Amino acid sequence: MAKHKIAVIGVGKIAVDQHLPVIDKSRDFEVAATVSGRGVQHRDLPVFKTAAELYTAMPEVKLVAICTPPGVRHAYVREAIDAGKHVLMEKPPTPTISELDDLVAYAKKKKRILFQTWHSRYNEAVDATRKILKKNGLRTARIDWRESVRKWHPGQDWVWEPGGFGVCDPGINALSIFTKVVPFPVFVEKAHLKFPANRQTPVDVEIVFKSGEAHQPQMSAGFNWLEESGEIWTIRFETLKGDELKLEKGGTVLRINGNVTIENPSEEYEQIYAHFAKLLRKGKSEVSDAPLRLVADAFLLGARENVEEFHW
Ligand code: NAP
Repeated sequence: MAKHKIAVIGVGKIAVDQHLPVIDKSRDFEVAATVSGRGVQHRDLPVFKTAAELYTAMPEVKLVAICTPPGVRHAYVREAIDAGKHVLMEKPPTPTISELDDLVAYAKKKKRILFQTWHSRYNEAVDATRKILKKNGLRTARIDWRESVRKWHPGQDWVWEPGGFGVCDPGINALSIFTKVVPFPVFVEKAHLKFPANRQTPVDVEIVFKSGEAHQPQMSAGFNWLEESGEIWTIRFETLKGDELKLEKGGTVLRINGNVTIENPSEEYEQIYAHFAKLLRKGKSEVSDAPLRLVADAFLLGARENVEEFHW
């Protein structure tokens, strides 16, 4: 079968690191063009300054992957749907829940497929953790998500602007795993957000979660963006049977009671595109708003503290 032609909108770090090379290797998709305000071309393929130019020039391209920062994504998705495209969106989907709700309703109304991705969910170790917690219950959970903003978002000032999420940009990846594997709804009980005095988004966040479960599981998260010793992307769970499950390296490794039981290289974006192909075949959209709701609630409930200025 012929490959789906897809255009990539917003050719920044994640488009270059993952989307373009992964689509190039895909058996389901091929890159047809890029849309880049700075004019970043992929191989010798057409590049357009705006999505509108792409839609006029290449009507045969029916799919777009939107890899911009979240703040501008609502407008890009609406425009793509209006042009009759099916859409794959990077995470976090939008800066507000109301914008995401609108996109879900709009895609449904216009009968377009909307796939809102959470890349960290696409790991065998995450699926295995979900199954074990469903069977054996959850007593405690602790998320530690620490990385260097200088390494992962070099010079990207949008992450520090309102709607840029700050350290919740990576932290929401942990929450995307957390909300997938915990077998009951979780809520923010309290949060503490530290903002660099010269920035609009937090550099460090602590969250305590609660649930409606009678046994009151203890659950918390800590996100930090100034970790220069390497990434710490870990979630520890204790089941009601007393086993310790530890998801490491962003969800690619599962250790049970100290023993590595699953360890895979990260193929998150390969899995995302394979899943998109499946959704297209089935004619189904997929959106999960639970991680965004937790971040929004942390911002609503969180105590705020100003800390040392951040400079690149
Ligand atoms: P980035 O390097 O800043 O790239 C975003 C690109 O979007 C820009 O290069 C620009 O591309 C385009 N763009 C359109 N409107 C823009 C605006 N108003 N401000 C800034 N850029 C605009 O960011 P990124 O790291 O690729 O992140 C993009 C999305 O992917 C974010 O939602 C992020 O959470 C997610 N993500 C990032 C990583 C990572 O490792 N950094 C990992 C997973 C997911 P053109 O100049 O080509 O138009």
